[in-house]
Amino acid sequence: MDPEQFTFDAIDSLEPDAEKAAYESLTSLKLVRKRATGERTMVRVGNVEIGADRVVVIAGPCAVESERQVMQTAEAVARAGARVLRGGGFKPRTSPYAFQGLGVEGLKLLRKAGDAFGFPVVSEAMSDTQVELVAEYADLIQVGTRSMENAALLAALCRCRRPILLKRAMVASVEDLLEAAEYLLANGNPNVILCERGIRTFGKLTRNTCDIVAVPLLHQLTHLPVIVDPSHATGRRSLIPWLARAAVAIGADGLLVEVHPSPETALSDGTQSLSIPQFECMMQCLDPYLRLWAEERALSLVPAVAR
Ligand code: PEP
Ligand code: MN
Repeated sequence: MDPEQFTFDAIDSLEPDAEKAAYESLTSLKLVRKRATGERTMVRVGNVEIGADRVVVIAGPCAVESERQVMQTAEAVARAGARVLRGGGFKPRTSPYAFQGLGVEGLKLLRKAGDAFGFPVVSEAMSDTQVELVAEYADLIQVGTRSMENAALLAALCRCRRPILLKRAMVASVEDLLEAAEYLLANGNPNVILCERGIRTFGKLTRNTCDIVAVPLLHQLTHLPVIVDPSHATGRRSLIPWLARAAVAIGADGLLVEVHPSPETALSDGTQSLSIPQFECMMQCLDPYLRLWAEERALSLVPAVAR
């Protein structure tokens, strides 16, 4: 192979049987599987394209806590280069005693902050009955790790006009994640972004274990965009910039990062929320990786298309 012509697509094409073998057990994935043309799907979230020619950083607080908190975060992450604002209104918490979110009030504040800084926004719907409400305020609807297999929620999302950010369940295989995405596509919603957010393993020093190779594996198997959430994948602030770099280096289409103006007082996920200066630092350190990513993506002969 001519080193000048080096691309990761070229490596894949040297190994056609490997891809065929990986597909063998995936006969039910008719719509999510990568087509022979190699065409990728680009998902539009407001005015932002995910899966196209730039890594998209989605950032914001785990939960919306107050107008001041979300505005301050939005202003800072916009300045640092994030392109979508995140923030939970309805929070799925492991403990019933933990902060459950501001609900619709949180969604309104998120929308207000998004509009103030020109961001599309993403927020989670936990149940089928919340879908319409979340869709009213959010440009992208998140399916959380605890909900990937919630059939009633997925059914409501198929009928909804918004794109979906589908997080891998913490005890789900890559095939399970693709099955959930197939369900959405098969029932009328073609705009799905996949998210690797770490799976459960046995260590106690990180909250989850990031299955980082799921990124290129998914890119081999499906045309859908794939992003990584280094915040939930690690649960530790100090590891997030490292995993963010790894995710970009391995070809992720985007990152989902939790940021809080005062992580020590955050009402949810404080230990994994970057402070504003830490987020700025993470973005600066990503720069060379983003450039390499863009060069690599530009070599791809197959453009991404909107569905
Ligand atoms: C979140 O994004 O804040 C969240 C609850 O994510 P997950 O469902 O991946 O735990
Ligand atoms: Mn969180």
